[in-house]
Amino acid sequence: MIPSVLPTYSRAPLTFVKGEGSWMIEADGRRFLDLGAGIAVNALGHANPVLVNALTEQAGKLWHVSNLYNIEQQQALADKLVDNTFADTVFFTNSGTEACELAVKMARKYWYDKGQPEKVEIIGFEGAFHGRSSAGIAAAGGEKLTKGFGPLLPGFRHVPWGDLEAVQSAIGDETAAVIVEPVQGEGGIRPMEDADLKALRVMCDAAGVLLIFDEVQCGVGRTGRLFAHEWAGVTPDIMMVAKGIGGGFPLGAVLATEEAASGMTLGTHGSTYGGNPLACAVGCAVMDVVSDPAFLEEVNTKAGLFRQKLEGLVAGHPDVFEAVRGSGLMLGLKCKLPCGDVVAAGYGEELITVPAADNVVRLLPPLTISEEEIAEAVARLDAAATKLAADAKD
Ligand SMILES: *Cc1c(COP(=O)(O)O)cnc(C)c1O
Repeated sequence: MIPSVLPTYSRAPLTFVKGEGSWMIEADGRRFLDLGAGIAVNALGHANPVLVNALTEQAGKLWHVSNLYNIEQQQALADKLVDNTFADTVFFTNSGTEACELAVKMARKYWYDKGQPEKVEIIGFEGAFHGRSSAGIAAAGGEKLTKGFGPLLPGFRHVPWGDLEAVQSAIGDETAAVIVEPVQGEGGIRPMEDADLKALRVMCDAAGVLLIFDEVQCGVGRTGRLFAHEWAGVTPDIMMVAKGIGGGFPLGAVLATEEAASGMTLGTHGSTYGGNPLACAVGCAVMDVVSDPAFLEEVNTKAGLFRQKLEGLVAGHPDVFEAVRGSGLMLGLKCKLPCGDVVAAGYGEELITVPAADNVVRLLPPLTISEEEIAEAVARLDAAATKLAADAKD
């Protein structure tokens, strides 16, 4: 008999009833150190008093009115995002997937309104993840996402990760945009080289093609900058945001330049819940913390410490781990043993990590994790690796 919850998820045998900062707690009191943050979502940790306060204060006033009316919290959050980024304008969604939908629509509508309706094609990279909607899976293109769900939304092409020559030769008269995660998340914590992001910008400008950054996972302070592309010193025309921006409350956004957004005129797009008062009240509180340069500086300091300790871990367990990679507090351990075994061994040490493609274990702690907690996390990884290596010998 089919379970009452549609069985699409492979779940760990863990049930958490409470969260505190970098910790998740089971009913029996077992405390797990959280290096997953709900897949890079709980950017400020669990039950952060600032966010709890923002949410409960708003909950006592007004939850939802729809976008038929002005929403003060939505306006405030849009202003914060515009003030702190390349963007001139923002549309709010409830998820990263919905942000992908609009990014694709916006790019196509831009060229349609420019009198070039043939420009519909979007070039993406292999190993990408852009969400699970029809546009999201077509944009990513991987067989794991698309198999059995045809006919796929047409107008997408894919090139190998980081292969800029392939992008150059894929760009043609029908190209509307290139879409890229500055750091691939699901694909295995693969940062694009700064030089390559720069080259991509130059290439898109030369060809008259829009550039879309998917910062759903790597944005909102995760890499030690407010958005990951800032490291490369380039800006996109359109950017997808979600995950961390809501700190655990469902919230996403599409940020765009005035030019790129010019096709999205009155009545061309909408959402019932998008930008609701609850989500935006929390989003404002997240932005106030994360956009503070002192906060980002701390993320960078902790990231440096974490990375250094992880290099030591990898050196100490050459039969379990191959390398550390990533950016800021978006780190990956490329494994030699199956990454699922490493994640499971972590559970045995009351440590949460997240598997990704390319046999990588993702480490995406709350940005508020302390230096002591980082040391504790590496000690637990060390214990897990020691047990794994011993088991592998038996
Ligand atoms: C998670 C993710 C998405 C999809 O976001 P949802 O909120 O799950 O719909 C899109 N792009 C990237 C890079 C992601 O990591």
